[in-house]
Amino acid sequence: MELLDLMSVSVDYVGGDRPNNRYVSVLVDCIGIDDLLTYRIPEDVDIQIGDILSVPLGNRHVGAIALQISDTSQIADTETEIKSVSAVVSSGIFPKTYWEMLIHTADYYRTPLIQTVKTALPPKLLDQSHYRIKIKTLSPQPPLSEGEGEKESGSPLPLREGLGVALSLSKGVRADPHALTKAAQMVWEFLQEHKNNPKGISRRYIYQKLGRYTSSGLKELQKLEWIETVLELPHRPQPKYEDVVISLKAADSELTERQAEILTILQHQGGECLKTQLYKLAKTTSTTVQTLANKGYIAIAKRESLRLGGKSHTVTRDRHKDLTPDQEAALRQILIAISDQTAPHFLLHGVTGSGKTEVYLQAIAPVLAAGKSALVLVPEIGLTPQLTDRFRARFGDAKVNVYHSQLSDGERFDTWRLMLTGEAQIVIGTRSAVFAPLSNLGLIVMDEEHDNSFKQDQPQPCYHARTIAEWRSQLENVPLVLGSATPSAEVIYAHQEGKSIYLELPNRIGNKAMPPIEVVDMRDEFKAGNYSILSRKLQTAIAEMLEAKQQGILFIHRRGYSTFVSCRSCGYVAECPNCDVSLSYHDPISPTAHQPKSAHLRCHYCNFTLIQPKACPECGSPYFKHFGSGTQKVEQELAKLFPNIRLIRFDSDTTRNKDQHRLLIDQFRAGEADLLVGTQMLTKGLDIPQVTLVGVVSADGLLNFSDYRAGERAAQTLLQVAGRAGRGEEDGKVLMQTYTPEHPAMQAVQSYQLEEFMQTELEMREALRYPPMGQMVLIHLSSESDTAVEKSANELAEYLRQLENDWDILGATPATIAKVANRYRWQILLKFAPEVLPNVPSLEELRMLVNSKAVRVAIDVDPLTIL
Ligand code: ADP
Ligand code: ZN
Ligand code: ZN
Repeated sequence: MELLDLMSVSVDYVGGDRPNNRYVSVLVDCIGIDDLLTYRIPEDVDIQIGDILSVPLGNRHVGAIALQISDTSQIADTETEIKSVSAVVSSGIFPKTYWEMLIHTADYYRTPLIQTVKTALPPKLLDQSHYRIKIKTLSPQPPLSEGEGEKESGSPLPLREGLGVALSLSKGVRADPHALTKAAQMVWEFLQEHKNNPKGISRRYIYQKLGRYTSSGLKELQKLEWIETVLELPHRPQPKYEDVVISLKAADSELTERQAEILTILQHQGGECLKTQLYKLAKTTSTTVQTLANKGYIAIAKRESLRLGGKSHTVTRDRHKDLTPDQEAALRQILIAISDQTAPHFLLHGVTGSGKTEVYLQAIAPVLAAGKSALVLVPEIGLTPQLTDRFRARFGDAKVNVYHSQLSDGERFDTWRLMLTGEAQIVIGTRSAVFAPLSNLGLIVMDEEHDNSFKQDQPQPCYHARTIAEWRSQLENVPLVLGSATPSAEVIYAHQEGKSIYLELPNRIGNKAMPPIEVVDMRDEFKAGNYSILSRKLQTAIAEMLEAKQQGILFIHRRGYSTFVSCRSCGYVAECPNCDVSLSYHDPISPTAHQPKSAHLRCHYCNFTLIQPKACPECGSPYFKHFGSGTQKVEQELAKLFPNIRLIRFDSDTTRNKDQHRLLIDQFRAGEADLLVGTQMLTKGLDIPQVTLVGVVSADGLLNFSDYRAGERAAQTLLQVAGRAGRGEEDGKVLMQTYTPEHPAMQAVQSYQLEEFMQTELEMREALRYPPMGQMVLIHLSSESDTAVEKSANELAEYLRQLENDWDILGATPATIAKVANRYRWQILLKFAPEVLPNVPSLEELRMLVNSKAVRVAIDVDPLTIL
């Protein structure tokens, strides 16, 4: 058949065979290919970084993204090996500065660009089925009907020649469709048949119908600029409206008894409720309700109904609050920067409950009104539902997009594409949302700026979302607001260096005092013969709280039952066979399904699990001692002391998925439990007014951490926890148990004097050239072979020492946790002054230097922990 014959004709750009010296390195959409591939750029094609391309790979054409353009090929070999780009699928879908940001990220974090791009972009972006083809308005008219005969007669089509003719015509306006190649003509006719669809036709559909012709046909038409390719954008959910019934006047003798009854029911609902709800409550129909409306007793109005978190979780619409003078002053400065389109960085310092979020909301309103978008970065997803509720309540569902890693791939992709629409919107997300492709950004907000979850540990790039947000603010000329009750050393230092504007909200809204913090010395408890993990004071406080029917939060540093288990006779400690850590005891009664039914020991690094042995493997003694105080142990202890207490455990064991968070917090908020017992996750933004008591079971785990940031982190965490108490009508109080009450962080927290403490911290770091006064880069090496990793680490350190660089090299040394998941870990720490900027090797260079398949390397620029 003629069609088949034609398939073998390769349609290439004219001049595609001629040597050409422009090359593009691309990321291809193909699992398993992690290197950039190089293609030749056809002579008369213009490619920009960030363009979505179609490139030949094997005998297919795959999607690709243009990442680097150069005049010389990376491949030193013969030029003929390099294939040409087949087509530019879509151009300019990213905001202009987007690639600058990604390239800078890759460079700064010493990570290959391809890996950085994969972090920033959602999966499936390059899948060509997401693209639609549209006929350009200036393209020629469809072939006239008299053309039909000619086609069926099978007369030879002018192939190459025809393409030449077509190409010689300007913008294709006067071009003759008959001068196309067969492939292009088929595609063109197909497109004409469907031209009434204003959205165009999906690429996938054309492929289905025309098979292999599609690629070359599309390429040719694109070349002629008769068609364009656009990324298919999902539909933004439209706001949903519901009817509400509002009472206007009280029942009187004008009404029938039945009508009066309905009015009374409405009064009981606060004079306002959903129409459907009134039907149910009053067992009435629309005619009756309409009669009441006609008589002027009620009004029926439309109101936007808000959908949240996929579930039917409704919030009531909320309005601007009248700001306090402090809020007003802070907002004014931010608004000036927004309207001037300058890019200052603000430090919004305010205790929890001081009204920072209200300032964000009111700063964002004019941004949206001006048709621009706002990016709101938050630490953890545990907090997002609550915060998201407030944004949705203020701006409506349709304006707010939530973006985080717990979304499914599909949800992520759809949300991501919604950002490309260019519509004014608010994106609330965790650290990776800093890469949100918003094209018309007006403001960036980072809430709880000090939080460690803004830093990515792995995989590389180990980026800090705050660092990238700072660049982004500069690149796009938008203000950045960094909010915190406990600003990080970095942000405090930047302010002291005159790099940011300080905005303060010193008081809680309503001037509610911060709850008093009492430090309980656990050494006294031990002396007094109280061996419980709960001090007498804390026990009394819980009893009083229960008596007053109030609610409380108990904070525990670790999840699980206890940190480790040891034999009372011989001191044997159960350790993970794969990692250099002790195993944690976990109780059999646990709400998560996939756990052993009996008591077990688990490694929190590699998840190794062992049924708790009946006797000590070393000496056979049946007596074990449990150290530490995980959530489970506290739970048991509480149940023993207060048999009727209702508890909710909130840790990463009980909140594996996104809905669990909301569920547990909603239950607690609804008063279904007296005490919320949980870990770190409790510290973030939890705003539950009924909470009057906050207890910290043991502050010591936080304080005695072998890291130079331990003090800062402990103080921040403890103050965040304290901030959960007394946010409502009733006053709150905080009890912190510790064996080291004299620790400076403890003292600072107790008096709410973090400034002074941070000042001392900064001085100490200055002396040691630690961040933020110094800069650090951590190089990790790991291997299953302890000798291989040691050798590589030492050789690498030796090599680095030889380089002419103004840096200190610490190591190579075994990592603090020397073995994880059967891999031995070594590290090298580079320390230098921030203004020095030595030539730190990139990940690729390190891999070449180490040059051992048995040893894995990673590089962490500005590490937050050195474990
Ligand atoms: P933060 O973000 O600093 O923790 P929020 O903005 O959440 O503080 O404010 C704490 C509480 O006070 C919230 O319930 C909020 O609705 C309320 N609030 C904030 N600003 C005002 C204001 N100006 N007037 C009245 N209530 C306010
Ligand atoms: Zn023993
Ligand atoms: Zn382990």
